[in-house]
Amino acid sequence: MERASATAERLGCPKRMVFGPCGGVRDDERCELAQHRCVFLGRPLVRWPGPPVAPAPAPLGGPHSAAGRFVLADLSVPPFDPASLRRVVGVLEPVSDGLLVGEHANRPDLPPTMVAAEVLDAGGRLWTTLACRDRNRVVLEQELAGLAALGIEGVLCVTGDGRGPGVRPGATQVFDLDGTRLAALAAQAGLRVAVPESPEAPPVGLRPARVAEKQRAGAQLCVLNHVSTPARVAEFVAAARTAGATLAFVAGVAVYTDEPSARVLQRFPGLRLDGAVVERVLAAPDPRAAGIAAAVTEARELLAIPGVVGVNLSGMGSARGEDDGARIKAAVAEQLREDG
Ligand code: SF4
Repeated sequence: MERASATAERLGCPKRMVFGPCGGVRDDERCELAQHRCVFLGRPLVRWPGPPVAPAPAPLGGPHSAAGRFVLADLSVPPFDPASLRRVVGVLEPVSDGLLVGEHANRPDLPPTMVAAEVLDAGGRLWTTLACRDRNRVVLEQELAGLAALGIEGVLCVTGDGRGPGVRPGATQVFDLDGTRLAALAAQAGLRVAVPESPEAPPVGLRPARVAEKQRAGAQLCVLNHVSTPARVAEFVAAARTAGATLAFVAGVAVYTDEPSARVLQRFPGLRLDGAVVERVLAAPDPRAAGIAAAVTEARELLAIPGVVGVNLSGMGSARGEDDGARIKAAVAEQLREDG
């Protein structure tokens, strides 16, 4: 193990990470953003220096949580469109425990605090993804203070996917902080803190211990990226427990009902889908029903894993637009609620 000062970023990391590696390391160990090997590989894990940051004490809430499970749903909407945001909140909020607003490398949107105000006003329980790619530390601190003042459910602190070549040319990528340091700032701001992890991205053997270090930085929830099978999630959570992580896990459930909504998930760095299930859904006579059934089955298997307290219904759901995608995710959530 290696202790790091809060400013000792790894030389050669395009994201200027201290607590790397990010979840975008490629299967052949290349950097997400460059042709060289990820500079964190072959080195000891960087430990959180100093005392653990105390997390916010509030428990998870929502209609499912009383039944021992927590159902989050991605809030996928067109950018700069409050009317769509409110429509989708109206579909998902009644059947889920929280709505997770994402961050996109190629698609700016309204500021997180403004989106939060809209969602809260529409009656949603909101988790906001905050990424380090497009905001310097000052702006991140502003957003954290604003989100805490608004009273959102929590913040998912991510380093953020990098913009690849040709994506918004001319826009700089900031990375003053990485997700782990942002988690500490968020906890200090009084927010409930979630962090991501990508169990199947190299270095697979070190990632469970990364979760323990993120917990020491203030995280109380770990949202796992899609993994090829529930058995792999079970292995990962058990390994994280062995490494000292005691926080709760929320596992990603891929929601797709057609070719575009499946393929978009397969393109993200650090995400894995069960290819056989994808092909079975797409070849089914009714892919919509098959996709919903596949997501429900995956969610039930994930929720049976010790340490997994919830699932995150993620992805577009449907290529027919955000409203239809929300209806698909709501159908999955409704079936899970009936289990309770
Ligand atoms: S893969 Fe991620 S952590 Fe590794 S060098 Fe590239 S940007 Fe940095």
